[in-house]
Amino acid sequence: MIGKLYLIPTPIGNLKEVSPRFFEAIEDCSYLACEDTRNTLKLLNILNISKKCISCHEHNEKSSSINIINDILDGKTIGYLSDAGYPCISDPGYILVKEAINKGITIVPISGPNAMLNALVGSGLNTDHFFFYGFLSAKSSQRKKELFSLKTIPFTIIFYESPHRIKETLKDIYDVFGDRKVSIARELTKLHEEFIRDSLKNIIEQNQTLIGELVIVIEGAQNTKEEINKDSIINLYNKFLENGFSKKDSILATSLSLNIRKNELYDLLKEKNML
Ligand code: SAM
Repeated sequence: MIGKLYLIPTPIGNLKEVSPRFFEAIEDCSYLACEDTRNTLKLLNILNISKKCISCHEHNEKSSSINIINDILDGKTIGYLSDAGYPCISDPGYILVKEAINKGITIVPISGPNAMLNALVGSGLNTDHFFFYGFLSAKSSQRKKELFSLKTIPFTIIFYESPHRIKETLKDIYDVFGDRKVSIARELTKLHEEFIRDSLKNIIEQNQTLIGELVIVIEGAQNTKEEINKDSIINLYNKFLENGFSKKDSILATSLSLNIRKNELYDLLKEKNML
C-alpha cells in the first residue's frame, strides 16, 4: 500500500499553537521533509519529538520531490514542513504537492497557524471576499506594475512584506491605489503582537518604525464602476507611461488592468489627442 503526504503547518511565533493533530501526524511519518532542517529540528527538540528530517527547499524542491514521492509510493508516509505557518503559502511545497497528486498520492493538510488569516480576521476590514497576493516584488518598478494590476480589485487585499521594505511598499501602494484603509499586523501570536489600523496616508505621514514580521491588509477598491470613467482610464494610462512603459505597453497594461478593449482605449486617446 502506498503512503500519504501530510502538509504540517508550524508555529508563526507562539509555540503553544501546535495541536494534538500536529503530534499525531508527525508520529505517523517515516521521516519529515523540511524547508530548513535546522529550524525544524530546533522546533522538534523543544517539543521533545525525535524524527529524521531531510531537506526540501525552494532550490532543490524538484529533485528532492522525486525521492520523497518514490518513498511514498514504496509505502512510507511523509510530512512536509516549512519554517513557519503553512507550507505552500509563500513557502515551498507546491511542486511537491503537484507532483504527488500526479502520482495519485493522498494529500493530508493538517490545520494550523497562518499569518494572513490572523492578519485578515483581526484587521476590521471586509472579510466576505479577500485576495491574498503574498509578497510583492522587491524592485519598486516591478512592484508598481503588480500594484497597477491589483488596483481595481474590489476585495480586501493581503500582502506579506519584510520590515526592510515596508515603508517603500506602503508608499508605492499609496501612489498607485490612493488613500485607503489599511491594517498592519505585526508580530502575530507573539508577545508584542500589534494591529495598526489607520489610513495609508496617516501611516506614511507618521513614519513610525515598523519592525518584526508584518502583514499588510488593505481595503479593496471602492465604487469600482464609478472609478472606471474616462478620467481614471487616462490617469492609469499616464501612470504606466510615467513608470517607463512604452505607449503600446501602457495601452495593453491599462486595458488588462481595467478589463476594457484596447480599441476603446485607442479611441479615447485619439479623442483626447494623446496618440
Ligand atoms: N507560510 C507562512 C504562512 O502560512 O503564513 C508565510 C511564510 S512567508 C515566507 C513569511 C511572511 O509571513 C513574513 O514576511 C510576514 O509577512 C508573514 N509572517 C510570518 N509570521 C508572521 C508573524 N508572526 N506576524 C506577522 N507576519 C508574519
